[in-house]
Amino acid sequence: METVLEVFLNIIIFLIGASIFSFLNVVIYRVPRKLSFVSGRSMCPQCGKNLKAIDMIPILNWIFLKGKCRFCKGKISIRYPLVELLGGIAAIASAYIYGYTLQTVLIFAFFGILTVTAFVDYDTMEIPNEFVVAALIIGVFAFFAFSDISFLSRLAGGVCVSLPMLLITFLIPGAFGGGDIKLMAACGLFLGWQLTLLSFFLAVLGGGAYGGWLLITKKKGRKEHFAFGPFLCAGMAAAVFIGTPIINWYAGFLI
Ligand SMILES: [Zn+2]
Repeated sequence: METVLEVFLNIIIFLIGASIFSFLNVVIYRVPRKLSFVSGRSMCPQCGKNLKAIDMIPILNWIFLKGKCRFCKGKISIRYPLVELLGGIAAIASAYIYGYTLQTVLIFAFFGILTVTAFVDYDTMEIPNEFVVAALIIGVFAFFAFSDISFLSRLAGGVCVSLPMLLITFLIPGAFGGGDIKLMAACGLFLGWQLTLLSFFLAVLGGGAYGGWLLITKKKGRKEHFAFGPFLCAGMAAAVFIGTPIINWYAGFLI
C-alpha cells in the first residue's frame, strides 16, 4: 500500500515540476522578446493561436500532436517537452533529497532559474538581469533555510568565482560576459564556496570540450565567442545534486 502511495505521490510531484517548467518554456521564449509572460496563455509561436487546455498537459501533448501545432501544423521544437521532462526530474530529485520541505522548493526554484538562464543565454548570448535578481533572492532565502552551508561560506561563494572572473575580464576584455559574472556572484550565495568552485570547474571542463569541438569541426573560428552561461548553469545544477559526494570523494584522497 505504501509503495502504491509513494508512486502516486511521485507522479504528482513529477507533473507539478513538468507543469512549472512548461511555464518556464514561455518565459524562455518571451523574456528575450520583451513580451509579457504573465498575461495570456501559452500560444503557438508561429500562428499565435491560444492552445486548448488539453495542449497544456506537459510532454504527452507534444507526443500526441507529433511535435506540431494543432492549428497551423507548424513545428514545435522538441526542446519544449525536454524542458518539461527536466522539470519533472528536477522536482523528483529535489523532493528525494530534501523531502517535503522549504529546502525542496528553494532547490527546485534554483534549478528553474538555471534552466531559463541557460536557454536564454544560449539563444541570445545574454543573461537578463531579471534572472540574476531571481537567483539573488533565492540566495538570500538560502541563508535562513539551510543550515548545512555556513553564513561565511555563502558570502565567500558570492566572490570566490565572480571576483576572479571580473579581474580576468579587466585584463582580457571580453573574457567573460557581465551576465556570467553577475550570475556567479548571485548563485555563489546559494551554493557556498565549495560548490561554487566545483561548478566553475565543471563549467570550464564542459565549455572547454565544447569549444574544442567547435574548433575541430570548424563551426566557429578561434576569435569567436559562444555562450558560457549554459555551462555555468549545468555545472551549478550538477553541483547541487551530486556536488557533496564529489567533494567528499575528492577530500578522501587528501586525508
Ligand atoms: Zn500554430
